[in-house]
Amino acid sequence: MLTISRRTFLKAGALAGAACAVPAAFDFPSFVRGAAEQPVTKIPSTCNGCSTNCALWVYVKNGRLWKLEGDPKSMKNEGRLCARAYGVAADVYNPDRVTGPMKRTGEGQFSPISWEQAFTEIAGKLTKIIDKDTAGAVAWMAHGGKETYAQMLLDEIGAATYITHYSTCFTSKTNAWDKMVGNQLTSDINRARYMLFAGRNYAGGIMPGAMRKIMRAKDRGAKIVVVDPRLCELAKVADEWLPIRPGTDLAFFLGLAHTLISEKLYDEKFVKEYVFGFEEFWNANRYFTAEKAAEICDIPAAKIRAIARELAKNAPAAFLEPGYHGLHNHYAASTQIAQANVIVNALLGNFYKHGGLMPAAGPKFGKLTLPKRLQPEKGERADGAGVNNEYPTVETSRGIAQHMPDRIAAGKVKALFIYHFNPLRTAPDPEYQKKMVKADLVVSIPVDWNETSVHTAHYILPEHYYLERMDAPKSTGGNIAHDYPQAVMRFPALKPLHNTKHLLDILKGIAQAMKIDDLYPFTVEEEAAAMLKPLGATLDTMKDNGCLEVAEAVRPEFPVKDGKPALTTTTGKVEFSVGAFKLHGRMGVPVWTPPLVSPKAENEFRLIHGKQPWHSHSVTSNSPYLMAVSKSYNGSRMWMNRSRADKLGVRDGDTVTVEARIEHGGEARTVSKKVAVKVTEMLHPECVWVPSGYGNFSPRQKVGYQQGVNYNDFAPARVEPLSGGCMVQEVIVTVRKGG
Ligand code: SF4
Repeated sequence: MLTISRRTFLKAGALAGAACAVPAAFDFPSFVRGAAEQPVTKIPSTCNGCSTNCALWVYVKNGRLWKLEGDPKSMKNEGRLCARAYGVAADVYNPDRVTGPMKRTGEGQFSPISWEQAFTEIAGKLTKIIDKDTAGAVAWMAHGGKETYAQMLLDEIGAATYITHYSTCFTSKTNAWDKMVGNQLTSDINRARYMLFAGRNYAGGIMPGAMRKIMRAKDRGAKIVVVDPRLCELAKVADEWLPIRPGTDLAFFLGLAHTLISEKLYDEKFVKEYVFGFEEFWNANRYFTAEKAAEICDIPAAKIRAIARELAKNAPAAFLEPGYHGLHNHYAASTQIAQANVIVNALLGNFYKHGGLMPAAGPKFGKLTLPKRLQPEKGERADGAGVNNEYPTVETSRGIAQHMPDRIAAGKVKALFIYHFNPLRTAPDPEYQKKMVKADLVVSIPVDWNETSVHTAHYILPEHYYLERMDAPKSTGGNIAHDYPQAVMRFPALKPLHNTKHLLDILKGIAQAMKIDDLYPFTVEEEAAAMLKPLGATLDTMKDNGCLEVAEAVRPEFPVKDGKPALTTTTGKVEFSVGAFKLHGRMGVPVWTPPLVSPKAENEFRLIHGKQPWHSHSVTSNSPYLMAVSKSYNGSRMWMNRSRADKLGVRDGDTVTVEARIEHGGEARTVSKKVAVKVTEMLHPECVWVPSGYGNFSPRQKVGYQQGVNYNDFAPARVEPLSGGCMVQEVIVTVRKGG
């Protein structure tokens, strides 16, 4: 195993790509000497280490990756890159990449085939499925947002089911904000005087630009409070860390709201003009005092009141950060948690205010003009998102990823495309997820031999690595506020190393083999040029300048039309009560809802998880450099509070057995894993915490294979009915010393 210190790795970031490129017999010193004479080219791109899309410059020498530099113009990273960026870039040379199209020949067995054979066979199977009038049974799953190209194929065949990874990540947040506000607002860290973060760790699930803004805010005297069961990386730089009992943030938020209202600290003018459902919320929560919240969440009532008062004193330049992954997807009450977050902020009157919450700035991209096509009527959503009697309030733009095997077993999905997504590792219960292999057709489009490809794909169609391809421009907007829209774009920096293709060419190949004429009558270059045109930019200017800032300021103005509030909600106002959520006996407003399960016995813990700054996702888990950093920090250990560890006789570094009972579809089994423990005071005693992104079980990913455990191993694949979340922190595990 390669050993390298984190410090050496980060210092050597400039050379990481080149160094990782070294095959066994490669003479590195000669390569460096020879390359020294070669010119360096500099190409703009965007990082693929997470969905932040940090803009970067790729330096190439001798046709090989030489170094990376963050683009100083990008508000998402302000010239910096996190460790993951270097590790993931170096993975372009990782021997565990898929090197050409593959066809399954047995469990975990594949044979190389030609692209032509792959296209012909996939097209044949897909055509058969569609001919049986079941076009609705074709689904596309992807990690990110909408891929236009995939959507075009789905539209062409009448398939409605496009699914993102959001239901395994933060779909409750997007759903609540969309329905209550009609928009996803972002925190204006640059101008805030008081910032409250609950369930959001910008220094762990790192965003370099956010952290730089937070540290500058701290320097100018802004107060930072972090609420988290664990002393997360962000809490380390905060003024206060409040170790809340896991699963009780809703009580804390409601306690804040109660204090703001009962002490008349809220922005009455804003509420009167721009809020719908205030009375309904207050009537349902008038007895839920800070004292009541304190009994539940382990934060003293006086502290809850003090925070509410400080928020109000600094409003509107104060916010409760709108949150992300853990809180906003992983509890049965996640939708109500996200609703309460909206309400606390609205009570502060900080919407569309500098220092409060602002809309994400997005450039107004142009569009290619394409001939109109005659397309069939769409079939029903195969995942149940937005479908009456199933999950009517789940956003169809996000879908439900984690119950795909059940949808296949029910005959609702027959063909499944999985693009840049690894649900076998990132969705709950991998043993259950493996049953996706039973679909008539499963096509995975990855770059590496991830678990989903190995265990479920009938065909693997490898995509160019991100450094090898051009991608259409994207907005940098989202999560944190910036005054001007920005656009970033990927240009190919390296020649493709393997027999891979661009997604557009993969879909062109399938469409042509299906005899669908001219579905994609354009190239990526043509599409990108059309998108950039209204911004006054061209491919050349983007290539020369990198990140583009558009001179059209985002104004701090609440949307108003004809003198009336004009949010895109039903009433045009911020809706404290959501009519659509009045399902299954629920109210439209959030009220205290206890977690589904709670630990009781001495050896029981709630299992929670979070990110590390150097290793956090499926795509970072097989990097030799990032794993070396991880090893130097014992990064894969499970955290346990010292008082609980003492009772179980567990010492720092001991191996323990973690078990959970998984029940699904009438079957039950016990999952049992071993993991080393980090014993600490810096975690609420009621839970154990594991870092995400470990526990690879694809034997073809040799670096990450069987390193640490993954929270998804212990969670059943459930669906939270309002937003489709996967509730993976509603899991109680037992822990015992030894194996
Ligand atoms: S936060 Fe790190 S991994 Fe994510 S895009 Fe930025 S540099 Fe890459």
